[in-house]
Amino acid sequence: MYIVQLSPELAPVAKVGGLGDVIFGLSRELEIRGNHVETILPKYDCMRYDHIYGLQIEMHDLWVPWYGGAIHCTVWFGFVHGRKCFFLEPHSADNYFNRGCYYGCDDDIMRFAFFTKAALEFLLKAGRRPDVIHCHDWQTALAPVMLYEMYQCIGMDQQRVCYTIHNFKHQGVTGSEVLHATGLGRPEYYYSYERLRDNFNTGAINLMKGGIVYSNFVTTVSPQHAWEARFTDQSCGLGHTLDLHQQKFGGILNGVDYEMWNPELDRYIPSNYGVKTIEQKFANKDSLRDRLWIRKGYSPLIAYIGRLDAQKGVDLVRHAIYYALWNNAQFVLLGSSPDPAINQMFWEVKTHLNDNQDCHIELGFNEELSHLIYAGADMIIVPSNFEPCGLTQLIGLKYGTVPIVRSVGGLADTVFDKDFAHDKALHERNGFVFHEADYHAIEYSLERAIRLWYDYPEHFRHLMENGMNCDFSWNHPGAHYLNIYEYIRHK
Ligand code: ADP
Repeated sequence: MYIVQLSPELAPVAKVGGLGDVIFGLSRELEIRGNHVETILPKYDCMRYDHIYGLQIEMHDLWVPWYGGAIHCTVWFGFVHGRKCFFLEPHSADNYFNRGCYYGCDDDIMRFAFFTKAALEFLLKAGRRPDVIHCHDWQTALAPVMLYEMYQCIGMDQQRVCYTIHNFKHQGVTGSEVLHATGLGRPEYYYSYERLRDNFNTGAINLMKGGIVYSNFVTTVSPQHAWEARFTDQSCGLGHTLDLHQQKFGGILNGVDYEMWNPELDRYIPSNYGVKTIEQKFANKDSLRDRLWIRKGYSPLIAYIGRLDAQKGVDLVRHAIYYALWNNAQFVLLGSSPDPAINQMFWEVKTHLNDNQDCHIELGFNEELSHLIYAGADMIIVPSNFEPCGLTQLIGLKYGTVPIVRSVGGLADTVFDKDFAHDKALHERNGFVFHEADYHAIEYSLERAIRLWYDYPEHFRHLMENGMNCDFSWNHPGAHYLNIYEYIRHK
């Protein structure tokens, strides 16, 4: 099958969070299974160009219709660790992708609407006719809308669309401008409840809703979150739309690329290890402590890695730092936040704990350091308010770093409490789970984890091994996505 991934992120060249990892891992798995896979991305100025091989021009002159005129683009091709990628570079005064960042600009909606339009124009004009176009999140949600309403009648009538929602919080709610810019036009047509009109703001259109309505199949990234999206408020207003389209909606758990995230092969850690050589993990703890100026000694090291967003339960993260320090544990945080208030909060924590030899707060994005933390820490916390899938707990499991998580979304599908997962056999229990989003709940889990580490090291080690023995590779999800592609292809 010929599959094109349309995505704003791809690890490790353009990665903000889990979406980038997912596109990379899924593409690789689909290729291993004999499919032809290409990814189309914006050509951001701030990408990690050191991870792109053989970058060369694929098409000099791609003219993309925009606001009744056209923008001149260059299409580049290159390999990202073996994955085939096209990068779209517009030449216009808007400088859509030369902003020194991926997201966070006032005109994000226009930037990604343009990207989506340019991607379809490229496929059309280059004569590329994938069997399936797989779109992701609000940024590329207009692809099925434009495909059905515009491109179908000019030569792209065989293409089918799978649309994956990685995060319902950002939906691309906007005005009619984007209809005008892309050439979709006809606001009166798209402003209908059955199409793109936002379910609550009647004066707005909702790109994610358009993606759901127009795609041949819609997925989110774990079965539990698919349920939450339909039956709780976690789809942020799209529950009724999902209900109307329930026959084409489901949850598929994300995988982890075990070539990129594997303690046996990891190039960024000083001591490789596996489940049979687990004691070699501890050299990484030493190395992490050396690197971050944390004192060595007999104490557990707890980590947090992730975006510092309200979604991630930042109050609980902050509380966990102090709780760990009060209870003879060490703490390492690696995170960044575009939100000034949250950023400020963690700068204050960092300043406050600056001289503390048991703690390090690293505010920023650092892929290489994240590998060392996964390998060096004993436990990793994920106290999210909501979590569609979550990759940090899955990577933690693979690295023998015991997850302590709140029971939501994909966390509930993948982490099973050592003491309370009564429906699981002992060897399937792999972490600590709490339910309420309050201090007491996370404290109780942290306490159980820290106590186990000190008092029953053998039991703690079993928990590490149970995690390392889990298979959260792309093997199963890859097969599920292929089933969906096959199903929609023949519709
Ligand atoms: P989300 O997609 O909501 O950001 P996930 O848990 O699905 O969360 O994925 C997070 C991914 O981003 C993981 O691979 C994690 O290691 C990585 N990551 C998040 N923040 C940072 C950071 N500050 N530095 C390095 N890697 C990070």
